[in-house]
Amino acid sequence: MLFRVSRRYVAFTTSTYDRVDMTILTPKNPSSSQSALNPIINCIPSVYYSSQKTKQIAFSDINSQTFSHVCKEKMSSAHTLGTITRFNSNFSTKKNKITAKRQSARSANFKLTDTAKELLENTAQNRVCVCMSHRLKQDENISIKHNGQNGADGRAYYSNIIQCSSVHTCIVCNNRIMSKRSKEIAQAYDYFTSSLHGFVPMLTLTIPHKAGGSLEKQLELINHAYKRLMDDRIMRQVWQIVGKVGAIKGVEYTHGKNGHHNHIHSLMFLEKSHHDIKLPIARWTTPKRKGMLRLLNEKQEQDYINKGLQAQISYMNFDDFIKFYWFKLCREVGLGTASLENGAVITEGDNVKSYIAKHKSAQEITNSRDKKAKHGNRNQWELLLDYQNGDKHAGVIFKEYAQAFAGGKLLRWSNGLKKLLLIEEIEDEEVQAEDESTESQVIQEITIDVWNIVKHYKLQARLLSAVENDYQNNTDEFSTEIRKMIKKNDKRIEEKFIKMYQHIENLVPPHWFNDHYQDPSIQSVY
Ligand SMILES: [Zn+2]
Repeated sequence: MLFRVSRRYVAFTTSTYDRVDMTILTPKNPSSSQSALNPIINCIPSVYYSSQKTKQIAFSDINSQTFSHVCKEKMSSAHTLGTITRFNSNFSTKKNKITAKRQSARSANFKLTDTAKELLENTAQNRVCVCMSHRLKQDENISIKHNGQNGADGRAYYSNIIQCSSVHTCIVCNNRIMSKRSKEIAQAYDYFTSSLHGFVPMLTLTIPHKAGGSLEKQLELINHAYKRLMDDRIMRQVWQIVGKVGAIKGVEYTHGKNGHHNHIHSLMFLEKSHHDIKLPIARWTTPKRKGMLRLLNEKQEQDYINKGLQAQISYMNFDDFIKFYWFKLCREVGLGTASLENGAVITEGDNVKSYIAKHKSAQEITNSRDKKAKHGNRNQWELLLDYQNGDKHAGVIFKEYAQAFAGGKLLRWSNGLKKLLLIEEIEDEEVQAEDESTESQVIQEITIDVWNIVKHYKLQARLLSAVENDYQNNTDEFSTEIRKMIKKNDKRIEEKFIKMYQHIENLVPPHWFNDHYQDPSIQSVY
């Protein structure tokens, strides 16, 4: 007969604080059986210690159950010991699905960081190797905290652990920091457009394919061209006309069929709308520059008018001028010929908002990404994923990328812009995960001997999910995982020893096992 779980209860006995899980099973088709009236009660006792503080899981103590704050909370919230408390009545499948999706994305990201560790281990960019594996304070345990939220908002995270803050090579840290940066930009955008009535268009700058030789050289040249676009003599004049207050620049990396490729997104904070700007352009008449375009300043424009040469002035709109100027700069710095139409593109409104929102939620790099849709272009995380899936060359490219981007910031705000827009200066290393809050409580502490095994089996993400699920569903996933892991590890060590002894045995000459054999050299001693 088929049964379904109709209710789950948990009860505490008064004398020992023993917990009893009861599952009531009812037949799937009640009319076919009388047992619908007599549901089967299936009691599975499980013991919790009544210790007042979090019990640490120690290597030597692994068979004991852990006593977690969660359990303590549940116990104290029971009306009286001995009463039956129904738990999880509002268990929501939908929320669990969201949680499961988030957990699987987190686990994929932890795996990408493990892959980056493997690739960068013996390089100068090996800072990522300590991420999520070493303790901050050596005399304290690593612990797992929970933010105390229920449902899909419930999050567990590690405490007293080093986070590498390598924004270019560690996707776990990149997500944490990018999410904070994204909020800062959103705040700056809102304040500037609403309170200061300014305009924030976004400039997207791309460079010619096959440009600039090595990635480092390409980066150097694109940054040089950008600097001139922001600050050379002519552009200073243009920016003054449109009232530029500052800019936030971000360089993004992809690798495509033509090799490394960088592009820049720059949010321009302008006092005037660039649509209202018409820039007076005329052609040089001096022999040396004859025929070349020049941007006129106010005085020069007035001179033309005064001399009756107004017809020689043409007025270029702002977007076209930037396109033209970026094209010119790319050639001048040695990047080659950019696309005049698409090299520099200005967008605004929803496009800017979606750029800002892009990094608010954690990046999810999945196997299902559509390579064709991206014309084979892969960002750094996709390169890591392809390496994970066996593409060795993707690993080589990732290492080149890591070297070129080392030490760089995700975003660069022009001087004074943060202060003007009331954004607090926070270094990457100081950015905490959003889930970390003062209300968070320690759920589990992990001693160093157990932690070493966690690291060995790369179970960091799995344990966080276990703690979240236990918190939500009153399960024992965490203890089960730890026990499973220890058992596996014991077996591994045992097998290692057996192998070692077999190896030693094989080294011993077989005649040593012969009792009748006497070594002549030994005889001579006596
Ligand atoms: Zn990291």
